[in-house]
Amino acid sequence: MKILILGGTSEARHLALRLLADARFDALLSFAGRTEKLADPGVPFRVGGFGGAAGLAAYLEREGFDVLLDATHPFAAQISRNAAQAAQQSGLPLARLEPPAWSAGPGDRWLDAPDMAAAAQALNGGSLGAAPRRVFLSIGRLEVEAFAAAPAHDYLIRAVDRFEPALPRARVIAARGPFALRDELELLQRERIELLVSKNAGTSSTRAKIDAARELGLPVLMVARPHLPAVTPLADVAAACAWLDGLGVAHGASMRRGV
Ligand code: NAP
Repeated sequence: MKILILGGTSEARHLALRLLADARFDALLSFAGRTEKLADPGVPFRVGGFGGAAGLAAYLEREGFDVLLDATHPFAAQISRNAAQAAQQSGLPLARLEPPAWSAGPGDRWLDAPDMAAAAQALNGGSLGAAPRRVFLSIGRLEVEAFAAAPAHDYLIRAVDRFEPALPRARVIAARGPFALRDELELLQRERIELLVSKNAGTSSTRAKIDAARELGLPVLMVARPHLPAVTPLADVAAACAWLDGLGVAHGASMRRGV
């Protein structure tokens, strides 16, 4: 069974590695090509956009894929919308590998923001006031500009690649997850961070900063996930394998019937 995995996350790579070991599956991992230096995923892969939903549908048909698996980051909304549209157009089964969102537990000091603009607003005279703070922006590179609306703060930004942020007082550290709790505690203390801004990614590889903030009693501005089209949800790699197993049985039966 030929499977296109839309990736860019550790979960996508783990799934692709798992499928590589199973002769029933022929999986290709797809990357957008956003990072400067792509780490070799150790599985067959391709890089670059498809040209919107129509381009993706055409690619799926041209290359003879049987299944589309969206394992992109929960905040990569455009590609997930394209995947839903392309699967519908081409009639292929589609599921989304998406870890459940984090929820606040005892000791967590979270402030929820519906999106990045609202998070910046909360820091600019909104619910968090406007007094200057040392803020850890752990949101990647793409949405940093929203915080130009809250210019009073000192920002520490973590992203895969270095870049020049369009913020008056910001520093960038380049690092790639997974991140360990001990290292996150050390970073927050060394940088005297007073507040963390995070996407509600739900991924285990980026969870440690949330636990570190709780241990240190720091507030977290937690940005909610964007709204995505409803498709079959798969909570983890094991669930994705089980779903593919089920499809494999049906696929094998239809091949034997010659349909
Ligand atoms: P996006 O806004 O949803 O997608 C923008 C465009 O990038 C898509 O329309 C598509 O181009 C291309 N694209 C995205 N993912 C692709 C993939 N896996 N394979 C081929 N093309 C892809 O995505 P984004 O937020 O910029 O994220 C880009 C990539 O980084 C994603 O693969 C995502 O999994 C990963 N990532 C994102 C975040 C985040 O916070 N957004 C965090 C960690 C990792 P075409 O329309 O030309 O096909």
